[in-house]
Amino acid sequence: MALTGVPALTSSAWAATLKDGRWCNPARGYFPAGGYYGAPRGPYPHAGQDVTNSTGTAVYAAAAGTVVRRGTGILSGRTGNGLVIAHGGGRYTYYGHLSAFRIPLNAKVAAGQRIADMGATGHVTGPHLHFETHSGGLGSTVNPVSYLAARGVDLGGGWPAISPGAVGATVKAIQYLITRRGTTLVADGNYGSVSVNAVKKFQSSRGLVADGQVGPKTWPSLVYSLRRGSSGAHVRGLQVVLNKHSAGLAVDGDFGAVTNSAVRAYQSVNRLVVDGRSGPKSWEALVG
Ligand SMILES: [Zn+2]
Repeated sequence: MALTGVPALTSSAWAATLKDGRWCNPARGYFPAGGYYGAPRGPYPHAGQDVTNSTGTAVYAAAAGTVVRRGTGILSGRTGNGLVIAHGGGRYTYYGHLSAFRIPLNAKVAAGQRIADMGATGHVTGPHLHFETHSGGLGSTVNPVSYLAARGVDLGGGWPAISPGAVGATVKAIQYLITRRGTTLVADGNYGSVSVNAVKKFQSSRGLVADGQVGPKTWPSLVYSLRRGSSGAHVRGLQVVLNKHSAGLAVDGDFGAVTNSAVRAYQSVNRLVVDGRSGPKSWEALVG
């Protein structure tokens, strides 16, 4: 089968374009000892990366796609409840040991959409997400940590990297935040030259490297600590990334009771401090 849509990594310039906003962190947590890709496990090496957190922690689609398998024992050697999402071009992600499913088989999902709850089903010593990335066909696993890192995503948590040419909800949030910072941008979710130049200007004003890449150094300067009563473009940015994670809010720039509830719900299922305020920790989780 021809692997259309799966370009080879031929240059660092191309690698940068992979940070295109299309991928995101599937779950927040830490890497347990021995849970790394390739770790010895009986007759076969460990096919994914484990991300440990408590049962009920939200699990999100790592990229847009279609749920092609859902249930127990859906891939050889995997135990407990699992999901497979097909992303096209021979790319798949697998989510294992789930305690609950939140989408049906054959569902079309968006990047960041909530798909399941972390759990401890199958052969496990405690709750965690077993996460796999497949490239070049189902069964052809690659290291999920490096696969996501190449796409600007820090598996388990951390600020993402968004490069020029990126698209999607996180780009919209950047556009709203830059608007609040003083340069009005159209929040169309396309990280084109006008937006990139505005980010470069912002980076220069903060003494940051003006490369137009919104990464771990730029994000903390760009986001605002928001709370009930806040209003404006920065709140729209917050609402957009809450919606990326299935909040279903009106993007009205008004941090009222509904947005407050959505922030609290998000914080709760992501094991953050539940205070209804969107500070740097909540932003980091939301845009990752
Ligand atoms: Zn595992």
